[in-house]
Amino acid sequence: MNSETIYKKLLELFPDASCELNYKNDYQLIVAVVLSAQTTDIAVNKVNELLFAKYPDVYSLAKANSKDVEKIIKSIGLYKNKTKHIINLSKAIVERFNGIVPNTYEDLISLDGVGRKTANVVLAELFKVPAIAVDTHVNRVSKRLGLVDKDASPVEVEKQLQNAFKKEYWSKLHHLLIHFGRYNCLARNPKCDICPFIEICTERKF
Ligand code: SF4
Repeated sequence: MNSETIYKKLLELFPDASCELNYKNDYQLIVAVVLSAQTTDIAVNKVNELLFAKYPDVYSLAKANSKDVEKIIKSIGLYKNKTKHIINLSKAIVERFNGIVPNTYEDLISLDGVGRKTANVVLAELFKVPAIAVDTHVNRVSKRLGLVDKDASPVEVEKQLQNAFKKEYWSKLHHLLIHFGRYNCLARNPKCDICPFIEICTERKF
């Protein structure tokens, strides 16, 4: 099965695959993505309702008291570090980018708490730059489907996926692999009995 066929089958399964973090503007998206590390989107959406009600823009979050923010987001993992990240990145956006979320990879990764994965999500989601952000689902599913080397690092996974798929597919592919990993090819109990990729899978369960 070639990459084109895999892409089309994923698209048939999840035609509406898209970002599941709730956001209304650029500020909310970058904060949500930083908060989503090692946490579910559902948990992030829950705390963000209150967070964005209290801090509606980058200026208010830049001036926030860290203890107040910690209280709001304490139900998600790594909340103390994440509090520092989102306050610091807000300050940097206010001080260095006139309150506007930057639109280049280099500027994005200069922000506290923003690494390669977060920068790629922001570029694809806000600025429509073709990008493949490699999270735990993308990493696992790509390896099970034999799209990338088993021992590939996240950066290598990104490069190998870029080589395997047309550029115009990259951003949608990111969502498709996440949806497939989140709802079908789960880490512990993948639904192999209904999987359209069982013939090519390297880790099928029966
Ligand atoms: S056969 Fe199972 S492990 Fe393999 S890709 Fe399908 S759901 Fe995932």
